Amino acid sequence: MKDILQFWPAYVSLHEDEILSSFVIRNAFAHFLEIKQFCYSQIPNFFLIDQDVDFIQDATVLQIIADKANLSLSKIKATTLRGDPESRYKKYIKLLANKSKGRGFLFCPRCLKEDGANPFFRKSWREKKQEFCEYHLIEMKYQCKFCNAPVLPLRARLQKTIMPSSLSILGCYQCSKLIC
Ligand SMILES: [Zn+2]
Ligand SMILES: [Zn+2]
Repeated sequence: MKDILQFWPAYVSLHEDEILSSFVIRNAFAHFLEIKQFCYSQIPNFFLIDQDVDFIQDATVLQIIADKANLSLSKIKATTLRGDPESRYKKYIKLLANKSKGRGFLFCPRCLKEDGANPFFRKSWREKKQEFCEYHLIEMKYQCKFCNAPVLPLRARLQKTIMPSSLSILGCYQCSKLIC
């Protein structure tokens, strides 16, 4: 992939209510690249050292994603969370430091299952912090059901033995099993 390309060659389309990190992860795996490898080469400054990426408001970074995924800047901006990134970031760091007890990304396993070959994480799951899925009326989860690690999609790895590669977003960063 070279910068002269107008769009990412295998860019995926944005889902309704998808959060920024999920969209970037799915694009990385669609190009058969690890998340960090994809971001370092394609979205400079995406991993800002003092920020939880879903709070990014940096217009330059967001514009790159919009351009490469053939979307408007306002669409990409709408995938981010508002609020004080610093205080949220501290919570996130605490969570990473205390992995076994920490809460991961809230998700409904049935929603993800019903996404079929293209699972994605919802912005409303992070925003509302609800305990039950409003569609399935089941408890939201935040841990891997196999090893109890918090679910941290940005730490998922590209799973070459799993097809399609888009399912890699469901991989637990600790035990590699799919969370649903
Ligand atoms: Zn659900
Ligand atoms: Zn696990």
